[in-house]
Amino acid sequence: GLAVRLRGVTKIYDSGVAALGPLDLDVVSGEFVALLGPSGCGKSTALRLIAGLAAPSAGTVEVSHHGAQRRGSHSIGFVFQEPTLMPWATVRDNVRLPLKLARATGGDAETRIDAALDQVGLADFARAYPRELSGGMKMRVSLARALVTDPDILLMDEPFAALDEITRFRLNNDLLALWRDLHKTVIFVTHSVFESVYLSQRVIVMTARPGRIGAEFRITSPEP
Ligand code: ADP
Ligand code: ADP
Repeated sequence: GLAVRLRGVTKIYDSGVAALGPLDLDVVSGEFVALLGPSGCGKSTALRLIAGLAAPSAGTVEVSHHGAQRRGSHSIGFVFQEPTLMPWATVRDNVRLPLKLARATGGDAETRIDAALDQVGLADFARAYPRELSGGMKMRVSLARALVTDPDILLMDEPFAALDEITRFRLNNDLLALWRDLHKTVIFVTHSVFESVYLSQRVIVMTARPGRIGAEFRITSPEP
């Protein structure tokens, strides 16, 4: 089924900037989609609308959760370009945050945290503090934090853009392996042509402004 369905979605900010659309977008459950486009074309805006972090000016945003339509962010994990970790808290405490916000604590929560840290290769760094970690490892913490609630949909906003090329390539490969294991829907915003083609099953190219779909390329057929 569909994980995300946008129809006639536009965003006009209070400043008067027409940032997006009208945009129609269907993302199939389990698909890895890249949103590619120049800076300022509305990619982040599109992600925030899908996440329910902002409201569209017109149109409808539908996010499916195991068949049930719902708005809001319970089934969504979000990874920002900046890791935005709490510097005073350990890796483990940073990853626990979404569970605390969802009032999920106790043994099950701790098991979830262990699983998420393991998924991103940070099992040995649970007690470390963000300042002790490299940029790539901080990004892994952000990814673990997004995965810890086991969301159906992972939204990633230029997550690796600030990393050096080698670290970025490693993270690309690890993300691909994770996607193949976890069968999550991923919408990955990037302005790297290489990254979009390397990672995704479908590249959606957005026009400069306002953000509309200018072209679409299927890289492989979707998973059954
Ligand atoms: P991208 O992610 O592709 O760089 P954005 O979605 O961040 O694009 O921005 C699209 C356009 O909307 C840009 O012109 C940007 O300056 C503007 N914009 C983004 N966020 C806001 C905001 N909160 N208020 C006003 N304008 C914004
Ligand atoms: P990116 O290009 O990485 O998507 P931006 O630098 O465009 O990010 O935006 C970073 C933050 O600043 C976002 O939260 C966005 O909403 C906000 N922002 C961007 N452009 C504007 C703007 N013209 N007015 C107000 N806020 C903005």
